[in-house]
Amino acid sequence: MPFMKKSAIIRNKRLVAMNVRNGIENRARKEAEEAKREEEEAAATAAAPDPEQSPACPDRRIANLPCLGESLWCDFCDDALSLRFQENEQRNGLASVFHVRCHRCMKVVKIHTDDKGPVLADGKSPLYSINLQAATGCIDAGVSHGQLNKLFSAMNLPPVHRTSFVRAQDRVKAHREQEQAPSQSQT
Ligand SMILES: [Zn+2]
Repeated sequence: MPFMKKSAIIRNKRLVAMNVRNGIENRARKEAEEAKREEEEAAATAAAPDPEQSPACPDRRIANLPCLGESLWCDFCDDALSLRFQENEQRNGLASVFHVRCHRCMKVVKIHTDDKGPVLADGKSPLYSINLQAATGCIDAGVSHGQLNKLFSAMNLPPVHRTSFVRAQDRVKAHREQEQAPSQSQT
């Protein structure tokens, strides 16, 4: 900056340093509060059974309709499947895999309620899009695991296990850090 007065440069530098310091302090305080809240919730839920494996759960689900519609098809006999013949369900966060028996060939077909995200460069297995989207929304809105499950309970949706919730949030945070890294190194 050859045309800037020396005093202005110093003032600018001080302002930048102050903003950075405030930013770091705010972030540290926010992270400490978040960690404390998560610890309290973890202690409260540690002894509880895994709600995703509980057989008694509400009937409502969140489904990606094109994905569900496409997967309700038996490739063995080329015929449509019906959720009426569902025999089992594996829940993974907000997504489900229904084991549906084909009425024609009697084979059991796995029906997914949502797509999974792309395979990541670090080799980690992809997560269901709905879980990543819920994690993103919770981070941005400051919604905790306990608060999310309270909302789901009111909506008659099954609760999400803490492990699924934390795994998806960690994935979103890591992805955001990766995205921010190149722009930070340029400044
Ligand atoms: Zn079939």
